[in-house]
Amino acid sequence: MNIQGINEILIDQPKYRQQQIEKAIYGEFISDWSEAIALPEHLRKQLAEACPLDIHAEETISSGDSRKALIILEDELKIEAVLMMHKGDRNTVCVSSQVGCPMGCLFCATGKLGFKRNLTADEIVEQVLYFARQLKKENKRVTNIVFMGMGEPMVNYDNVMAAIRILNNPNGFNLGARRMSISTSGIPEGIRKFAREGLEVNLALSLHAPNNELRCKIMPVSRRHSLEEVMDALREYVDITHRKIMFEYIMIKDVTDTPELAHELVKLLSGWLGYVNLINYNQTEMFAPSTRERIEEFKQILEDGHITVVQRYTFGQDIDGACGQLAARTKLQID
Ligand code: SAH
Ligand code: SF4
Repeated sequence: MNIQGINEILIDQPKYRQQQIEKAIYGEFISDWSEAIALPEHLRKQLAEACPLDIHAEETISSGDSRKALIILEDELKIEAVLMMHKGDRNTVCVSSQVGCPMGCLFCATGKLGFKRNLTADEIVEQVLYFARQLKKENKRVTNIVFMGMGEPMVNYDNVMAAIRILNNPNGFNLGARRMSISTSGIPEGIRKFAREGLEVNLALSLHAPNNELRCKIMPVSRRHSLEEVMDALREYVDITHRKIMFEYIMIKDVTDTPELAHELVKLLSGWLGYVNLINYNQTEMFAPSTRERIEEFKQILEDGHITVVQRYTFGQDIDGACGQLAARTKLQID
């Protein structure tokens, strides 16, 4: 799909054409210009030649409630996107924001791939459209979007915001900002900017350690931006937006899951507007997942400390489709 040339083609056209096209692509999920029946035929032909709408996806693994797509970009680089179907007609798409990721977290399969480039806003939206087109045939729709695939959204800030605005546009995809979530490894400058966007998009922090020392060991970003700096930026975010923060915390065996760390986490998060999402670790070469008992014990300590805890993203693991784990085990090469 490459729709960059649309504006040029529309130069001599009446203004409402733009809206008709937005509606066709993002609202009706056309995959071929011949389906854009509101447009005159000569315009459809012109668009078909210059702006292909087909999305190249090499393979789609489906398993139970999850589907994973390997999307091939114009320059042949590959990214992954996942659809997770929950009960009650909630269909969440997990999108990538970059090809690979420059942050190099030790526990993350994407981090191991290295970094190729940022995605454009259209390439981010394309991942959502891929599944929206599928779901339309099943009389369903995408109801939630999470930026928890490959890449760090806050270092591709402008394109991520542009994608959110396209998805939020009432004349097109029309998904409420509250149904979208961004997860970041903790870029203070990005968090502060995000606080001022005036968007009601949810924010998650990949915390994964309650102190800077441990965090530096598993998340190199912490050496540049200390945990304290990140928490200061988040405080500003909460002050401005009054929105809750989701603190993601991966349960890695003997690394992040000890009772001492749970107590430390209680101290760190007491009084915060937010909650902890305890994430089951998807095994990689380097670390192992915590035992069920450890997770229960950890959770109990948090709850005794009056911290709200949820446990999400446990499904999709069978296809390595759990968010944040997109590249694992499929031996994806991004180039
Ligand atoms: N780069 C962003 C968003 C993508 S990762 C970020 O790091 O927040 C989405 C989530 O999956 C993050 O919380 C990430 O730390 C987590 N994750 C990474 N590797 C994982 C693994 N092997 N098992 C479980 N979660 C993982
Ligand atoms: Fe990048 Fe997030 Fe993986 Fe860290 S956890 S390497 S920031 S995708």
